[in-house]
Amino acid sequence: MVAAPREQPRSKAFMPRVPQAEPEETCPRCHKRLALCVCASIEPAAHKLGLLILQHPQEQDKDLGTARLLALHLKDAVFKIGLSWPSFAKALGRPVDPNRWAILYLGSAKPDTFPEGREVVVLDKNGAALPNQDRELAEINGVVVLDGSWSQAKTLWWRNAWMLRCKRVALNPKRASLYGKLRREPRAEALSTLESVGLLMSRLERREDIETSMIKSFARLLHAYHGVLRAEKAAAPTKPGRRRQTAARPREKPTPP
Ligand SMILES: [Zn+2]
Repeated sequence: MVAAPREQPRSKAFMPRVPQAEPEETCPRCHKRLALCVCASIEPAAHKLGLLILQHPQEQDKDLGTARLLALHLKDAVFKIGLSWPSFAKALGRPVDPNRWAILYLGSAKPDTFPEGREVVVLDKNGAALPNQDRELAEINGVVVLDGSWSQAKTLWWRNAWMLRCKRVALNPKRASLYGKLRREPRAEALSTLESVGLLMSRLERREDIETSMIKSFARLLHAYHGVLRAEKAAAPTKPGRRRQTAARPREKPTPP
């Protein structure tokens, strides 16, 4: 079972104190420090599949997080930061039929029930693949993604009961995340938020062009990130950089629901 979520967001007074680095200028569009900004060439694409990105307020991965980049790729993506919303319509900002939306599911799925070759699978409440995948997928008008560490995403899931009314989709990607060893995700196939939605766009709306453009952005971000790591290492060869430790921290283990 998952531990009861905190009643209140953790107060800043209890946050561990870390030495503050010099404040760096950040990009007003993607909110990344300028050395990691890859957003200049991103053109928001028109699309039919709805997207609601809900980010936990304490998501701290400013260097490698991809939710804002993702939102920049799609004209009609809705990006919200918070812990709970009273209804799906309030979160999305317009009326919505939850039965026609899917949430990217975090709980334990049963991969042995997944149909061969499918990278997006609609699940029942027990995490098993539903029988008529084509029909289930065709009914999906939009997708909700939860952005944060595993435990933060779990908190969002448990605090927003309306999510239970959505369909649940799991990803079974054929290729591993470009993150490689930068993040130790609980599952080897775990993709970044950007890669996950790229896969959904490509499989649910047949927009391989959007997926390609998202993956290019992600590769550019990782390239810039490796450049920053090298520069920090060169500047302080005897001390491991604080950012490096922060960015490469192990992600939290998932807890089965
Ligand atoms: Zn930027």
